[in-house]
Amino acid sequence: MRVSCPHCKQLGTIRSTERLSPTVSQHYVICSNRECGHTWRATTVADMTLSISSTPDPTVALPLSTHVRRAVIAQLIRCAAEADYTPCLTPPTTLDLFPPSGPDGPS
Ligand SMILES: [Zn+2]
Repeated sequence: MRVSCPHCKQLGTIRSTERLSPTVSQHYVICSNRECGHTWRATTVADMTLSISSTPDPTVALPLSTHVRRAVIAQLIRCAAEADYTPCLTPPTTLDLFPPSGPDGPS
């Protein structure tokens, strides 16, 4: 991600990031314009879901954009066939948003 320098409007490069929460991060940025040389801190906030994650973190609750066709997605999830796949880059924190009910989980 690149951001514009507030002074000279050239692109800056994020040198380091501190994650404050799952949705808020602070970035330390340096301007690419050597004649400017400004460094600053910027904060980013994830504030809306535009496309649903395939490995959602159940602790993150972002509003879903109104452009998402919820009923169509729900129907696709109900009716789609399954295909075997094991995630290797972003293993889910759980296999489902809700623990199983029964003797091994809450009812
Ligand atoms: Zn600058």
